[in-house]
Amino acid sequence: MIKFDSVSKVYKGDFPALEEINLEIHEGEFVSVVGQSGSGKSTLLKLIYAEEMATSGEVYFNSNLLNNLSRRKLPYHRRDIGMIFQDFKLLPRKTVFENVAYALEVAGVPDEEIQENVQQILDIVSMGEKMKKYPHQLSGGEQQKVAIARALVHAPMVIIADEPTGNLDPVTSLEIVQLLMRINELGTTVILASHDKDIVDRVNRRVLVLDKGRIIVDCAKGKYKAS
Ligand code: ADP
Ligand code: MG
Repeated sequence: MIKFDSVSKVYKGDFPALEEINLEIHEGEFVSVVGQSGSGKSTLLKLIYAEEMATSGEVYFNSNLLNNLSRRKLPYHRRDIGMIFQDFKLLPRKTVFENVAYALEVAGVPDEEIQENVQQILDIVSMGEKMKKYPHQLSGGEQQKVAIARALVHAPMVIIADEPTGNLDPVTSLEIVQLLMRINELGTTVILASHDKDIVDRVNRRVLVLDKGRIIVDCAKGKYKAS
């Protein structure tokens, strides 16, 4: 589903953020990307989301080359991906329901369908009872669950989570990662970037370790080996 072929990324005038990355991620996998701050985790995710483009090498998503993806095709590509961030990025003046419904409204989905879809997805993340609340009325963990619901609303092929537990306490972090594991079991590919050793060990699935822009470990069922 995702393929990196000798991919390097160099930000303007800097040393490479990623260097000679070769990587394949298949449908249904749960892949944890770990490594110290600055090792290139976010850059790797941004290349998949086509937020950044490779400096050299090729990035493929569903056999489509993402280098030089046209502006016209970009929204379609991104609809296949649900993004989750450390800082949730919810719309503060919209309720839980509206935050999740927003993307569907923009896409012109009929109201009845929106109502049904959003309710169903909020139930998956156990936030159905709080759908009338505003983000500031929620805990960090609850906000992240809403962000996950929003990411799921287009039924994406892959969920990409960049340090989703970075602002959460250990117990809540575990809850969020268990939710991601459940979503993976329901069929969605998950790519999780984290530097939280406990979280990654808990997932106990494929682990990629990045070090200074290079993959130094890629193990099928792994533990976080801090280098
Ligand atoms: P991580 O997510 O593992 O912390 P990043 O992918 O954010 O790593 O960063 C990798 C390297 O690229 C770092 O040296 C960082 O400073 C650099 N970098 C990231 N984004 C940019 C940018 N937009 N412009 C210039 N340098 C960047
Ligand atoms: Mg990062």
